[in-house]
Amino acid sequence: MKYNVVIVGAGPAGIFTALEMRKRGSQKSILIIEKGQPVEKRTCPKIVTKKCMNCKPYCHITTGFSGAGAFSDGKLSLSCEVGGDLPGLIGEDFAQELIDYTDGIYLDFGADEHVEGVSADEEVKAIRKRAIKAGLKLVDCPIRHLGTEKAQQLYLDIEHWLQEHGVDLCFGRECNDLLIENGVCKGVFLQNGAETETIYADEVVVATGRRGADWLEKLCSEHGIEHKAGTVDIGVRVECRNEVMETVNKALYESKLIGYPKPFKNKVRTFCQNPGGFVSQENYDNDLAVVNGHSFKEKKSDNTNVAILCSHNFNNPFNQPIEYAQKVGELTNMLGAGHILVQRYGDILDGKRTWQKELAQSNLRPTLPDAVAGDITAAMPYRAMTNIINFIQAVDYVVPGFASYETLLYSPELKFYSNKIDMDVDLNTSVKGLHCLGDSSGWTRGLMMASIMGVLMGRKFSEENE
Ligand SMILES: Cc1cc2nc3c(=O)[nH]c(=O)nc-3n(C[C@H](O)[C@H](O)[C@H](O)COP(=O)(O)OP(=O)(O)OC[C@H]3O[C@@H](n4cnc5c(N)ncnc54)[C@H](O)[C@@H]3O)c2cc1C
Repeated sequence: MKYNVVIVGAGPAGIFTALEMRKRGSQKSILIIEKGQPVEKRTCPKIVTKKCMNCKPYCHITTGFSGAGAFSDGKLSLSCEVGGDLPGLIGEDFAQELIDYTDGIYLDFGADEHVEGVSADEEVKAIRKRAIKAGLKLVDCPIRHLGTEKAQQLYLDIEHWLQEHGVDLCFGRECNDLLIENGVCKGVFLQNGAETETIYADEVVVATGRRGADWLEKLCSEHGIEHKAGTVDIGVRVECRNEVMETVNKALYESKLIGYPKPFKNKVRTFCQNPGGFVSQENYDNDLAVVNGHSFKEKKSDNTNVAILCSHNFNNPFNQPIEYAQKVGELTNMLGAGHILVQRYGDILDGKRTWQKELAQSNLRPTLPDAVAGDITAAMPYRAMTNIINFIQAVDYVVPGFASYETLLYSPELKFYSNKIDMDVDLNTSVKGLHCLGDSSGWTRGLMMASIMGVLMGRKFSEENE
């Protein structure tokens, strides 16, 4: 079997590559290989069971058409300052142009026209003033919120559109290797039960997302694909009552704050804020349970959750950032008997664990009921914990009440950004015919940035001779 373009992974990066090719009138044959299911067959049993069933062979939340996007909160960050390092490769103005264009595609497929976080009113000015005083940077980032339930319909419409426009979608099949001969990528190998099938291609796109980062790391070392060790973020998900977060929720929806707290001066930031949202658990294929958060468009909780992440970059001789963060996650899981750990902020400062019965004494009830009360400090590295505590104290100045005794910290919140694949501005890797996109490439870390990387790739393929 031979195609002009084979795309591995049907996340936003992969699907926007195909979408843009067809929008530009390209008649090239395209195959998208996805190890998960089409959108309409993706279901998380937790809706019924109320607890994560650790589905095998993969988690439906992160796997299947539209990747980690379909079941995500669907917050499209409309600023090139947010979502990854791609603007550093292609230029900020061009990246912003691509964001505006791609936002238009999301609107065409039914995204809500309302944009959060664009008001320049007195409230935002006051928040920024407090942030400056606390030594934090407030990043301006308009957000289009799809909402978990609406995102699924939108991606279903894209799935149908691609099928109607002659893009072949192959579900339930996993790519296990690349066919590389004499420095040229000529296709992919697919797992077919006990057998391996070869699909030849002129161009191969690997867009396997964060979950495919380990696999891509292996491919890089086996095939000599040039790359640099990536960053990992280690942190916690913080949950407060909506009343505490009300001012920032109303004025900004998502407050993107960045700080470099003493004594380490590492970058620490807020990420993925969910007003009225829910804390959730994700299970990686290697059984690692990590915490996340999302919010529905209609169904609201009494709480707001937001991640606080500390970036870790390592130097020679250490170059296994993903393994490092995984060990932190494993240790935390071990302490929680395989569950997410939750601890009150005040207990951390008092040097004691949180007991399950103490959670019921607060105004704040955890929105992740199967999280286990315990001591996250027993697994969190000293540097990360100190960064988090000092950052929370700075945020308390911007959002009074954020550092309350009852504020909940869930762990492990880990973001693996993959090795950063060496790429030129035309998105070519060091191996001819191979292109690595989206979160697995290390250049993006969000829906919009992954989508624009796909759009750019689609344009490059459309420009080439048919
Ligand atoms: C719970 C959650 C909430 C999120 N919320 C937001 C948000 O609100 N806003 C935001 O901007 N970002 C959010 N994100 C991040 C966002 O979803 C990702 O940044 C984005 O989906 C990355 O797109 P991608 O195409 O690079 O990869 P992915 O979306 O991860 O897609 C990769 C696809 O490749 C498939 N795959 C992997 N390996 C193979 C293989 N070997 N063979 C075949 N298929 C394979 C996977 O099954 C997957 O479907 C969230 C993520 C999660 C998990």
